[in-house]
Amino acid sequence: MQLHANNIGNIYCVGRNYAEHAKELNNPVPSSPIIFTKSTSSLTPFTGDIELPAQLGRCDHELEIIVLISSSGSDNFHTPDCISHIGLGLDLTRRELQQSLKDKKHPWDLAKSFEHACPVSEMIPMPDNIDLANLSLSLDINHQTRQSGSSAQMLFPILELIQFIHRHIPLKANDLIMTGTPAGVGPLEHNDHLSATLEGFVSCQAVIKRP
Ligand code: ZN
Repeated sequence: MQLHANNIGNIYCVGRNYAEHAKELNNPVPSSPIIFTKSTSSLTPFTGDIELPAQLGRCDHELEIIVLISSSGSDNFHTPDCISHIGLGLDLTRRELQQSLKDKKHPWDLAKSFEHACPVSEMIPMPDNIDLANLSLSLDINHQTRQSGSSAQMLFPILELIQFIHRHIPLKANDLIMTGTPAGVGPLEHNDHLSATLEGFVSCQAVIKRP
């Protein structure tokens, strides 16, 4: 299943959900989840060429496990039944712009929702044998591993994140959750070849195109 702006609800993201990633950007490790959103209009398939707009400045990859909220889950966010599909996404980020917004204590939406800022893989139905607390993800760029991690390293595990968001914002069927990025984020260049894996479940490739 490929997601489009017209078949999903909101996109919720979590910042600094892996301690090593918080440290690499000189951010404190949070004591509760940092939640923000991306616009659904920034969705694009994580395949083929990903065309980025001009004048983004530094644009970083953040590989993330993503889950889709199921229609049956709305009254029970404590079990994996609240997730219908799982896959991989990139939370592309204009890092310099984000830093200047953070310095001014402004929201960082402008750094997160530009065109094609949210490439997503094909989403697979939740496998019966999946262990949400032990999922390995990795991103190779030009055949070198740049990010690798496991959901076991998350400060806030996936179901805890979902419950946390729902305590503050009503979650609905087809909302998409991006669960945070492991360490190793860095800038994307024109013609970078990306290959991402959610081990045993999903893999996808794409080429970055920058003007
Ligand atoms: Zn992110």
